Amino acid sequence: MSITENLKKIKQSIEVISIQCGREKGSVELLAVSKTKPIESLVCAYECGQRLFGENRVDEAEKKAPQLPPDAVFHMIGHLQSNKVRKACKIFSCIQSVDSLKIAKKINTTCIELNKIMDIYIEINIADDQNKTGYEVDEVFYKEFGEIIKLSNIKVLGLMCIGAFVNDDKLIRDSFSSLKEILKKLQIDNESFSGNKLSMGMSSDYTIAIEEGSTMVRIGSDIFGSRY
Ligand SMILES: *Cc1c(COP(=O)(O)O)cnc(C)c1O
Repeated sequence: MSITENLKKIKQSIEVISIQCGREKGSVELLAVSKTKPIESLVCAYECGQRLFGENRVDEAEKKAPQLPPDAVFHMIGHLQSNKVRKACKIFSCIQSVDSLKIAKKINTTCIELNKIMDIYIEINIADDQNKTGYEVDEVFYKEFGEIIKLSNIKVLGLMCIGAFVNDDKLIRDSFSSLKEILKKLQIDNESFSGNKLSMGMSSDYTIAIEEGSTMVRIGSDIFGSRY
């Protein structure tokens, strides 16, 4: 199937699932994860109306972003190294993979210099097995979260996670519902925090993620084909 057909199918599917679980039409955004894919594939998605793209490497995004019209926006979804923060702050409209106070502070200082506010998500290591990125949810996390939301040039939109890497829908569902619970706790514990977004769900598990309250699904292979 072509990218055009895939996109159309996924968008319809997102809408159908949302409605089935009683959610408002348009309450789930689609991030087209274009990592490793050639610029032609992004252009094709753009021409079908897609504006939100996800990349996991700063250098790759730096090459691709200028080749699309300026209303295409890029979200960083891969682990961010501190020596890439400056570049990342220029290219991305949102960094979804913030997983330490140290990196958040660095993004903040850079954005003060660049005179911009960066939207971020805090990445949580919800399944804590194979996936080694993201915060472990412990005392340190809750304390650092309180510090991150105070940073002047960062806006915390919500939480991001990769679902459990298992062949068991129940466990996948549990990982998404725990992310939702953590967000609720953060909202209760931090009066000044107004983030309410949950970036969760990929090609293999986005149906479950939407049922569990995802506000953004990050889909790569179901749109662009598998990555080898
Ligand atoms: C690659 C990637 C995706 C998309 O994965 P697919 O299975 O191709 O849909 C989503 N989120 C993150 C963080 C990724 O690295």
